[in-house]
Amino acid sequence: MNQSYRFRRFTMQPDHAGELIHRAQCVSCAQMGPQAATGDAAMMWVVFHLEDHPSHVRYRELLSRPYRVVPRGEGA
Ligand SMILES: [Zn+2]
Repeated sequence: MNQSYRFRRFTMQPDHAGELIHRAQCVSCAQMGPQAATGDAAMMWVVFHLEDHPSHVRYRELLSRPYRVVPRGEGA
């Protein structure tokens, strides 16, 4: 995704030097697992959460994308 957001004095754009952050979240109790570099690693937390809470069977994968602010006219 290369979406950027333009404001009057700056532009917000994806920071390609930053890393995506993945997390798993339980839909039942909203508890979140630790940050991970991949979706597969993030979803490993589900195994442990499910052992403690057998009725919590629905989860979300959360993906966090880093952005940076660039003053207008400077470019990327
Ligand atoms: Zn839960």
